[in-house]
Amino acid sequence: MSDAAAGFSLKLSSDLREMRDWVHTFAESVIRPAAAEWDEREQVPWPVLDEAAAIGLYSLDFFATQFFEESGLGIPVAYEELFWGDAGIGLSLTGSTLAAVSVVSNGTPEQVGEWLPQMFGEPGDVKLGAFCSSEPDAGSDVAAIRTRAVYDEVADEWLINGVKTWVTNGGIANVHVVVASVDPTLGSRGQASFIVPPGTPGLSMGQKFRKHGIRASHTAEVVLDGVRVPGRCLVGGKEKLDDRLARVREGGRGGEQAAMKTFEASRPSVAAMAVGVARAATEFATEYARTRSQFGRPIGQNQGVAFQLADMAAAVDAARLLTWRAAWMARAGEPFEHAEGSMSKLVAGETAVRVTEQAIQILGGNGYTREYPVERWHRDAKIFTIFEGTSEIQRMIIGRAVTGLDVR
Ligand SMILES: Cc1cc2nc3c(=O)[nH]c(=O)nc-3n(C[C@H](O)[C@H](O)[C@H](O)COP(=O)(O)OP(=O)(O)OC[C@H]3O[C@@H](n4cnc5c(N)ncnc54)[C@H](O)[C@@H]3O)c2cc1C
Repeated sequence: MSDAAAGFSLKLSSDLREMRDWVHTFAESVIRPAAAEWDEREQVPWPVLDEAAAIGLYSLDFFATQFFEESGLGIPVAYEELFWGDAGIGLSLTGSTLAAVSVVSNGTPEQVGEWLPQMFGEPGDVKLGAFCSSEPDAGSDVAAIRTRAVYDEVADEWLINGVKTWVTNGGIANVHVVVASVDPTLGSRGQASFIVPPGTPGLSMGQKFRKHGIRASHTAEVVLDGVRVPGRCLVGGKEKLDDRLARVREGGRGGEQAAMKTFEASRPSVAAMAVGVARAATEFATEYARTRSQFGRPIGQNQGVAFQLADMAAAVDAARLLTWRAAWMARAGEPFEHAEGSMSKLVAGETAVRVTEQAIQILGGNGYTREYPVERWHRDAKIFTIFEGTSEIQRMIIGRAVTGLDVR
């Protein structure tokens, strides 16, 4: 057998297939039936989180197992199924992982051990985490973050002041991870992440946003007014930060930006969410086209409809393959030299928007009503071209990688 053939397979392991089917059963029997209600209520679906926690799906153990799964496909496979169920509820079930990943990728083992359990809780006592990077004047431009963290050497505490916005689980999370500038003269290289423990005075929720889609996920401003956290809450620790800042001041490379590192690692996961929504819409529209008759035959028998379904099915599979490639590379430690993480997020996000719009068209008038889920999926899908780096920012990253130029 040649080298290329020996090491390559797209077949999921039996463990992954079993996990996928288990998550799918939960998505089909619990998430889907609850989706329309929580979209209307625009609230975190606590009963669904409780149910997921009771079976071990909403748990640190589940996400950690999938995160460290050897092929890298654990998280993409799980997320595709959850978001196939519903994107708003899916985001409520996975929102804590962004905060968790930011601690896992930059933090010490002690920080991982202390704070991650507090982001998920346990059955009967569900908890949430939130990752706070974006600010009113620092969205795509992460370097513009104004939230400031100042070290108080005597008390061994960090004093944090600023306003964060668009935070998933913001203000209702038990643990917030906040990106702040420790040296504004260094731009994004002068930033660090801080864990804000539960109940810390000075952290409060600002405006809660009423959104176009993913309405079962809570999004709000987070105000940090004189927040004091112990020195051990600096993600990665002071020594590592001081070393990094010293390297940057000497003109060397100072590692990656704290926020960017989190976003880069999470891009294939976000892509998988989009694939789940796109697949849901494709399946639904396909079934509809097989059963809805006009002019004496199923509408799917018209090439005009079947060709759309063909494009939709092919686009979903293409998006999934890019997602799996990026997830596998991330797990295997292969650098994203051609911006493969961004490619997966860009293609999957744009696919979700296009495919859900096509699904509405195929359902005709029914597609435009709240009696059918495709209008909700279309509203939900739009988020994937906006958060964790807009489509334009992904194109910028890919453009830089493919041209080698400083594309702006
Ligand atoms: C529902 C929701 C949940 C979110 N959850 C979180 C969260 O948990 N934590 C968090 O930190 N953030 C979160 N975000 C924030 C999200 O990541 C930002 O909204 C996103 O990064 C875009 O920033 P912005 O909204 O300020 O848009 P802007 O940066 O103002 O961009 C506006 C438009 O300009 C374009 N643009 C900007 N710069 C360029 C450029 N150089 N070239 C070409 N086009 C450009 C953008 O692509 C976009 O189309 C969330 C957002 C939403 C809506």
